[in-house]
Amino acid sequence: MIILRAHHLLCLLGFRGFGYSAKFVENLEEVYKKVRQASPLIKIIAGEDDICKACPFVEEDCCSRLDPIKLDMAVLSKLKIKSPLVIKSRVVYKKIAQNLNGEDLDSICKGCQWLDKGWCKEGLEELKSEVAV
Ligand code: SF4
Repeated sequence: MIILRAHHLLCLLGFRGFGYSAKFVENLEEVYKKVRQASPLIKIIAGEDDICKACPFVEEDCCSRLDPIKLDMAVLSKLKIKSPLVIKSRVVYKKIAQNLNGEDLDSICKGCQWLDKGWCKEGLEELKSEVAV
């Protein structure tokens, strides 16, 4: 089962092949394909996940920069779900499309180096149009 922290559900929407290292990107691409191109069961948590495990900063406790638990809790609150939660990825992405807007990322993701790229907001809009169909 894929283990994903709540805010990484959003990061996957903005994935454009970039990341903190080659190993990190390779792992993220694998998780992306599994989660976004199929609908597996995923376990949503607030903590280190299958994406963090390949992160070059994980040893250095990088997360002191972004406080990812706070990001996770903000996403869980917006989706009105509690962690840990096992759920089909298609179901949780429908919830994301129905409960989050681009502006929410401005507050949830404040301080993230990728926010200003706009990719995550683009990905969220694409998801909304997919779900709306
Ligand atoms: S802005 Fe950063 S934290 Fe927010 S979804 Fe994108 S990559 Fe993740």
